[in-house]
Amino acid sequence: MKRDGRRVSRGLGVLARPPFWTGLALGCGLTAVAFQLPYVNWHLVAPPVDALPLTIRQDAKGDGRFSAPRSGGRHHRGIDLSAPLQSPVRAIRSGTVVQVGSHRGFGRFVELEHRHSLHSFYAHLGQVTVEVGARVRQGQQIGTVGKTGNARHPWITPHLHLEVVKDGTPIDPQTLGLQVVESAVRAVERHTPSEDDDDDASGGV
Ligand SMILES: [Zn+2]
Repeated sequence: MKRDGRRVSRGLGVLARPPFWTGLALGCGLTAVAFQLPYVNWHLVAPPVDALPLTIRQDAKGDGRFSAPRSGGRHHRGIDLSAPLQSPVRAIRSGTVVQVGSHRGFGRFVELEHRHSLHSFYAHLGQVTVEVGARVRQGQQIGTVGKTGNARHPWITPHLHLEVVKDGTPIDPQTLGLQVVESAVRAVERHTPSEDDDDDASGGV
């Protein structure tokens, strides 16, 4: 009896040994790391379209640069990146889908929330392949390039409208490290921006 009792206490004693708890903590930690690993941002910012180098849209209907003039004295809140229709649109950083919808000007869109008060917004999509609440990895496809909203005009070349908002203020995605080039072919003659031919003519976010 006495020996048995000692054996039991020795068995339970394993729990009191530091290696057990250290091992358990390490195990839990590694499990947590393994779970988070897919959501690590390996790059400051990932290309949102596959058409490299990322090229700013320039067509007869508009200038896709950040802060380019828009009708009504407004300015372009994002950048327009040329890309083939139906090609993938990808998350620039890991995050959570906070909004999916359809808007008169932006067409089909997705909004992601990232850490550090950063949001990214992808517009004129053809298809949306994520749902609100979903967690996405950096570089994960969230939709396809389309011509929805006021990008429908045949003279408007297919592009992704990308907006990055930091603490509620739109910022040039290039400041995050997104490398873009301007189109070598500039529209020689640009039509005067009017209500219906401007990428973001209907205002909004
Ligand atoms: Zn745009």
